[in-house]
Amino acid sequence: MDDRQFRTAMGKFATGVTVIATQVDGDIHGMTANAFMSVSLDPKLVVVSIGEKAKILNKIKESKIFTVNILAADQQELSMIFAGQLKDKEVTFDRLDGKPVLPGAVAQVACEVSAEHVEGDHTLFIGRVTDIHLEDKEPLIFYSGKYRSLVAEQPVSI
Ligand code: FAD
Repeated sequence: MDDRQFRTAMGKFATGVTVIATQVDGDIHGMTANAFMSVSLDPKLVVVSIGEKAKILNKIKESKIFTVNILAADQQELSMIFAGQLKDKEVTFDRLDGKPVLPGAVAQVACEVSAEHVEGDHTLFIGRVTDIHLEDKEPLIFYSGKYRSLVAEQPVSI
């Protein structure tokens, strides 16, 4: 099995798109990520997986906090900015529980790092959720390397 086949297979898992954000010495840093999931309800825990080359890795290790911003269908540009595909764009952040969050996201999830595990070339950060803000919007979807949107199921006429 080669790398391309592995990536293609993993890309068949349709996901939402998030921007992970943190702050060190007043500077906010974000990164687009879809390796995110909920881990536990009691206590409330989530996990994100960050590649070893990502600049945000050491920033989260230092700050011990991060937020997960689940992007809305109208926020594809933000996904591209924080994946390094669109350069030199200014982005304004809000605050949730004192942590940087993206306005207009479907969900903002504020976390404190409760554990980190190095697995292969990624680090898994377990986040203890300290606050959540929700908006009633449609999510951005990522599937097979492309952005998509949810299409409402057509009612079946009898
Ligand atoms: P950087 O180059 O430091 O940051 C990324 C970009 O964000 C840069 O262009 C930077 O200018 C911009 N940026 C950062 N902070 C700000 C700010 N405050 N204001 C404005 N712009 C800012 N990688 C993973 O490790 N895990 C994943 O789960 C993952 N999922 C992905 C899902 C999708 C859909 C995509 C497109 C990419 C994904 N990636 C993932 C890849 C990852 O987003 C890129 O490799 C990313 O550019 C690396 O982040 P960095 O911190 O090293 O890069």
